Amino acid sequence: MKKTIDSYDFSGKRALVRVDFNVPLNEKYDITDTTRIDAAIPTIKKILNSRGAVILMSHLGRPKEGPEEKFSLKHLVPYLKQKLGREVMFADDCIGEDAVGKARQLKPGSVLLLENLRFHKEETGGDKTFAEKLAGLGDVYVNDAFGTAHRAHASTAIIAGYFPQDKLFGYIMVNEIRHINKVLKDTQHPFTAILGGAKVSGKIEIIRNLIDKVDNLIIGGGMMFTFIKAMGGKTGNSLVENDLLEVARESVKKAKELGTNLYLPVDTVIADKFANEAQKKICHADEVPDGWMGLDIGPETCRIFSEIIKRSRTILWNGPMGVFEMPNFEEGTRKIAESVAEASDKGAFSLIGGGDSVAAINKYGLARKVGYVSTGGGAMLEYIEGKELPGIKAISDQ
Ligand code: AMP
Repeated sequence: MKKTIDSYDFSGKRALVRVDFNVPLNEKYDITDTTRIDAAIPTIKKILNSRGAVILMSHLGRPKEGPEEKFSLKHLVPYLKQKLGREVMFADDCIGEDAVGKARQLKPGSVLLLENLRFHKEETGGDKTFAEKLAGLGDVYVNDAFGTAHRAHASTAIIAGYFPQDKLFGYIMVNEIRHINKVLKDTQHPFTAILGGAKVSGKIEIIRNLIDKVDNLIIGGGMMFTFIKAMGGKTGNSLVENDLLEVARESVKKAKELGTNLYLPVDTVIADKFANEAQKKICHADEVPDGWMGLDIGPETCRIFSEIIKRSRTILWNGPMGVFEMPNFEEGTRKIAESVAEASDKGAFSLIGGGDSVAAINKYGLARKVGYVSTGGGAMLEYIEGKELPGIKAISDQ
């Protein structure tokens, strides 16, 4: 059986843990949202409590060329100390003499944080020599960075090759994989997928992969207008991807052939400009007048979608139903979030993923009322698209 961090003997070992500490910092370098660090604490504590030492490595932001103060991981040290209740050493460079020296000195129960991996372009380049240098710092490799699992970077995938017998998933990775598989493989029917957000282009692979798995496919958000136009409706100034009209038509046809219910909004909240203070009114979703644009799903659509959601046993939600960042156009997203929470309360399993739907669930204070909120936007989407993620494959391969 595959080793897990619960069965592995960390005693006297230095665990090289790839975490996702890509947290937002303000101009004073305070962390404004600690969610990602907090999520990794159980894995770190488990290793420390098992008499192992921990070497933490992560990226932060997108540094262009070499070190940049605003992307330094040293800003995270005080918070980490506080969270772990122990000293946290810091190495100014993730490879090189300082890191090697500090890693060697580590005693069981101690922690070393390495400087931003992306200060070396070899990280995103998936460079083997760089991965080998990182690997030299530890005795066992643990990947707990689901958010970058879809990247074949040095620290997320290549490095695993240097630990053929000693590579493990951390708790976040295990949880993410288990919950996504619960939706995709261990599905209770009816299964409803709710897709929204701005564009069809970002979601087309998901639609393709899900169309024969779901019972109901609900489409809202800006992407609904590409479908509505494809079906011959009037979309006014709404967001439409004209190059994807044929793709949208094909999806509708495919859904019909497979007996999958594809639901498009019947009404929409329209605005005379893209602004919260715009004039607004409600119209049929396929009759948006010229000069107006649809920025949310309408009340009748909310009612229909909510009914379907509440009758579901498995729910996957990605993407807001409208421009929920503007209070005047957030109602649809809020109603859908509430319906997902209600269905979950009645026993359905719900998985929420993708940056904006997670933001929406948090905005309405419903994170604890749904099944699972995925931490890795892009990684989760690629997994749902049916792709093999390099970070997962690297550990699963024997
Ligand atoms: P995505 O990253 O593709 O999931 O898109 C999320 C973004 O879609 C959010 O910032 C929403 O404001 C935006 N969005 C949702 N509905 C609409 C709409 N009807 N028109 C324009 N943008 C929208």
